[in-house]
Amino acid sequence: MKHVDDHRDPARARELARAIAAETTRPWRIMEVCGGQTHAIARFGLEELLPPRLSLVHGPGCPVCVTPPEILDHAIALARRSEVVLCSYGDMLRVPGSTVDLRTVKAEGGDVRVVYSPLDALALARELPDREVVLLAIGFETTAPGHAMAVYQARREGLRNFSLLVSHVLVPPALEAILADDDPATRVHGFLAAGHVCAIMGEAEYEPVARRHRVPIVITGFEPVDILHGIHRCVVQLEAGRAEVENAYPRAVRAAGNPHARAVLDEVFEVTARRWRGIGEIPRSGLRLAPAFAGFDAERKLALASTPAAEPDRGCRSGLVLVGKLRPTECPEFGARCTPEHPLGATMVSSEGACAAYYRYRAAP
Ligand code: SF4
Repeated sequence: MKHVDDHRDPARARELARAIAAETTRPWRIMEVCGGQTHAIARFGLEELLPPRLSLVHGPGCPVCVTPPEILDHAIALARRSEVVLCSYGDMLRVPGSTVDLRTVKAEGGDVRVVYSPLDALALARELPDREVVLLAIGFETTAPGHAMAVYQARREGLRNFSLLVSHVLVPPALEAILADDDPATRVHGFLAAGHVCAIMGEAEYEPVARRHRVPIVITGFEPVDILHGIHRCVVQLEAGRAEVENAYPRAVRAAGNPHARAVLDEVFEVTARRWRGIGEIPRSGLRLAPAFAGFDAERKLALASTPAAEPDRGCRSGLVLVGKLRPTECPEFGARCTPEHPLGATMVSSEGACAAYYRYRAAP
């Protein structure tokens, strides 16, 4: 606990808040990319410590929130097949596809299993050789190595009844998409990049983004002191007119990331365009299984059509929330028709979603 306590030290947090206030002379908008950071900002009330000129906006870094409805539709269609066991991480069960969610299909008798790691799905594939075990493999660069290793292991064991329904997304193209909007009212001036993603991928792929768009990108951790430290470093750069990639989380992130994990990713996956829920298609923003691993690709193996599905129109504005153009509390449905018990959109379903974080920590009625 000492390790955590050091990074939640109130005196250090106040000291950093004072340093941020002293440094800030102009209005800046800083986006934290990761849902885990959004969650910590809401939980520890960090925005209340910041000067009024400094706005934190919340980014698209919640994997559950950005998974598009057609992937859910595929998962739902698979879960309705008698030969399939559909494995998913828990939050995904409540995210709506274009009509229903996986929880509904499970209640109707579909074989949907909640798993906690890819190893759970592999164990099921060994246990049930007559069924096709499909793992709904979502997430950013952080979860992709685990899914890649599961495919490796399945190949090594000769498991032919295991496959992935892949919906991996990548952070840097999403930053580019957010920065393509040059509306001065909503322009993001600097980013806190997610430390766990950079622990895998390293710093290099953020450098072209920082250079091209003249934005500082500060690699930041997840505890309150980490986040305030990241904000401070970002403000120091902004006030000095610098736009660099800076590592404010050196206890976890090396400049080169994790070369072994990156090598596995490069071998098992290839880069592809991906649709992001609420945002739309972003070129080269996702991963899919490489041709050498096509036998483990549920979309190819089980002949799923790749047509985009329409988002259900329920008045949800999570697309604006996910790119920092709307605060959850500015959505008219927040806390009224939309609550964690009855979510209208993915950002209220996932515990990492900005709407759920605000509801839980900031504005619960
Ligand atoms: S509060 Fe609910 S309806 Fe509004 S944007 Fe968030 S998830 Fe969508």
